[in-house]
This record gives sequence, C-alpha cells and structure tokens, in this order.
Amino acid sequence: MRTTKDAVVIGGGLAGLAAATYLGRAGRSVALIEKAHAPGGRAVTQQSHGFSLNLGAHALYRGSAAEEVLRELGVRYTGAPPPASGALAFDRGAFHTLPSGALSLLTTGLFGVAAKIEMARVLGSLAAMSPAPLASVPVSTWLRDTFRTPEVRRLVGMLVRLTTYCADEGRQSAGAALAQLQLAFSHGVLYLDGGWQTLVDGLRDAATAAGVEILTGVRATQVAVEGGAVSFVELANGDRLGADAVVVAASPRAAASLVPGSPALAAHAERAVPVRAACLDLALSRLPRPRVRVVLGIDRPLYLTLHSASARLAPEGGALLHAVQYGPELAGRDAERELEALLDRAQPGYSAAIVERRFLPSLVVSNAVVAAEGGGAAARPGVSVPEVDGLFLAGDWVGPTGMLADASLASARDAAGALLARSARRALDRAA
Ligand SMILES: Cc1cc2nc3c(=O)[nH]c(=O)nc-3n(C[C@H](O)[C@H](O)[C@H](O)COP(=O)(O)OP(=O)(O)OC[C@H]3O[C@@H](n4cnc5c(N)ncnc54)[C@H](O)[C@@H]3O)c2cc1C
Repeated sequence: MRTTKDAVVIGGGLAGLAAATYLGRAGRSVALIEKAHAPGGRAVTQQSHGFSLNLGAHALYRGSAAEEVLRELGVRYTGAPPPASGALAFDRGAFHTLPSGALSLLTTGLFGVAAKIEMARVLGSLAAMSPAPLASVPVSTWLRDTFRTPEVRRLVGMLVRLTTYCADEGRQSAGAALAQLQLAFSHGVLYLDGGWQTLVDGLRDAATAAGVEILTGVRATQVAVEGGAVSFVELANGDRLGADAVVVAASPRAAASLVPGSPALAAHAERAVPVRAACLDLALSRLPRPRVRVVLGIDRPLYLTLHSASARLAPEGGALLHAVQYGPELAGRDAERELEALLDRAQPGYSAAIVERRFLPSLVVSNAVVAAEGGGAAARPGVSVPEVDGLFLAGDWVGPTGMLADASLASARDAAGALLARSARRALDRAA
C-alpha cells in the first residue's frame, strides 16, 4: 500500500475535479485518479490551428447549479450568449424563419394559421407551467396532450432536444425537460471563450491549490470493500491507495465494475440509458454564408451552430461550427452523410474551407436519460451508496439536481458534503 488518503476520487472530469477540490479545501488529504493522460473527460477542448473544438456543441446554462459551483470554486470564464439573429428552422428539406418573437411568428412559413395562434400562446405560457407534476410523464405524452397542432408539438419537441440534448421523447421525463427549457428561457446560455477547457483548467488549478494529488494516465481497477466499508483503491499499475472514503465520478457502468459486490451499483448500470449524439465538428478558414448561424431541424433531430459567432473559438476570419444529430437512433455513416447534406445546404462550398474536421459518431452526452419511469431526476441514485460505508457517487446520472454538467457539478458538491458529514459523525462517535 503506497499511501492512505482521507479520500480517493476516481475520475477527473468536471465532477471528479470539483468533488476533489471541495474535499481538499475542507482540509482532507485527497488523491484524484484519471485514466486519461489529462483531466477533463467530456469537457476537454482540442486546440488546432488556432481553433478550439469542444467535444460537440457545449453551452453553459446560466443561473444553474453548475455556475454556482464554478463560482464557489473560483473558476473564471468568459463567453457570450448565442447570436440573437440568424437562426433558421429546417423542415422537410426547406429552410424557414424560426419563430422566436411576434414578428417572426407572423412571417414564418413553418406554420399554418392555427399553429401560429397556438404558438403565440405557448411562447407566453411555457414559463408558467409547473414541471413537478410532469416528472413521471414522458415528453411524448406531454407534447401530445398539451399542444393541439402538430406543428407546435414538433417545435416544442425541437426546443426540448436543443436544451436537453435528448431526442428520446418516449423515455425522457417531461418535468425534467420543462425545467431545463425554463432554465434556458429565463437565464440563457453562454458559449465559452477558449471552449470548456477553460473550466477544466480552472478546476484543475483549484484542485491543485487545494492540495489534491492528481494522478493521470492510471486507471482504477477496483474499490476494495472490507467489513462493509471501503478500504483501498487498486490501480492498473498494481499500486494500492488506502482510502477512508472514495468518490466514484465516472459512468454507472464504470462504478458497477469498480465495486462488483454492490447490487445497487449493478442495478443503476443496468437501468441507465445513455443520451448519445453524433457530432461533426468543423474548423473553417472562412464561412460561405456568415448570416446563417443556427439551423434547427424540426422533422429531423439535427442541429447546426456557429459557436464562433459568439465566443472566441476561431482565429480572425475563421469559423467554428458544430453539427449534431441527436440520438437515440444514431446511424453511423448515415448520420455523417445527413449532417454533411445539411451543411451543403446551409453553408454551400464549406468543404473547400475545412481546416480541421472531426466526426464523432456516438458521443455519450449524458450517462442516463432523466427518465419519466420512476419519477424523473428525483429517482436518480443519491450521492451515498447505502450498502458500502464511505462510498460516494458524482456525475450526470447522480442526484436530484438538473441535467448534463449541472448534474455533474451539483452531485460533486453534494458527494463532498456527504463525505464530510460522515467524517464529522465518525469524529463525534470517537470522541463520545
Ligand atoms: C456532444 C456533447 C455535448 C454536450 N453539451 C453540453 C451542454 O451544452 N451543456 C452541458 O451542461 N453539458 C453538455 N455536455 C455534457 C458535459 O460535457 C458533461 O456533463 C460533463 O463534462 C461530464 O463530466 P463528468 O465529470 O460527470 O463525466 P466525464 O467527463 O465523463 O468524466 C469521467 C472521467 O472518469 C474517467 N474514468 C472513468 N473510469 C475510470 C477509472 N476506472 N479510473 C480512472 N478514471 C476513470 C474518465 O476518463 C473521465 O475523464 C455535453 C456532452 C457531449 C458529449
């Protein structure tokens, strides 16, 4: 056994870095284990020829739990909201004005008269709807029962995809989706200058300053449990790290394989249905049609966004575009062709300007759809694993708060809080 730590955190994405920082700041000795050669997980940004490429289109939700945690940990970032103009809807092979306000609603060719009247009402009423009673209702049922015209149903469905990244309408909780829509409408989002790597770097610096020992390029293979409590973490290089407590900040499947004796973790892994997307990330030396900045698929789960129109992600004159096909029916090569076809229509001649091109056929956007079955986010696993003393979880599939990075960072804070509460209880017990 090399050393013993108060806490070992497995996974160096946003969740692991944040949990480790909270623990380090509370005076605990902490080691963070990351199997990749650098921390960051799905929030890393690739730098290429002066362009910053996130892993697919990433937007930070303002007013969210994520922002709160980043503020608490002193992580600084700059960025800008998406462009207010230049958004098109793409429906049955044709572009239309995207109805976002009264004028565009009147002029769009996307809707007939009945849908225009209904949409005017919906735009004003979404903010007042209550998510809680919809927690156990699938998005598909909510759309069918709430909106009368098929055009409005499809448009609200598109907004749900845009804000949750999830096209699994039969599974996703309408309550969770509506809460995310309301967050987006009330506070907006930010595209970050330099990409999400700024968050990773800020969290890594905060962790290091808090005394966290960050070990990269080494995989944890097992969390050993003795007498019902965590005992040590075994690493792929043969080392063992003694641990009074462990936070697993990785996927449900990784958690289950790290602690094979835990039926609860096995059940979470079995139940979790990942949210996936196919992403075509493009760095262009110039943009054929600078005024086309966003395209939102209505009849198809497609999204095209020019992040460099808002954030510093491209050198002067260049453009950074993300094209996305939302799961669940990702079709590999067909998805790539569909995204290329959309780009050919929206930005004709773009391929002559490619500086960097990256197609990622099946990215895990979230480890688990927030499912209606069971009751939405409240039904996700808690941060403490009751059957193993000293074992905690963090990630986008854990805890009752938010989705995507919000869930990762909120559960990281909660996991650190639960771990510290446990050690305070034990100190009291020892003193008694
Ligand atoms: C295409 C795409 C678009 C997205 N868009 C948005 C968005 O717009 N807004 C938003 O809020 N979120 C978005 N997200 C989600 C966001 O990126 C994630 O929520 C967040 O980065 C997850 O952080 P995490 O730490 O929970 O998980 P991860 O980043 O997955 O980190 C887990 C880490 O654990 C490590 N690990 C796993 N097993 C082991 C082991 N045995 N030993 C050691 N290390 C291990 C992995 O290498 C990884 O680094 C998007 C994601 C994708 C893919």
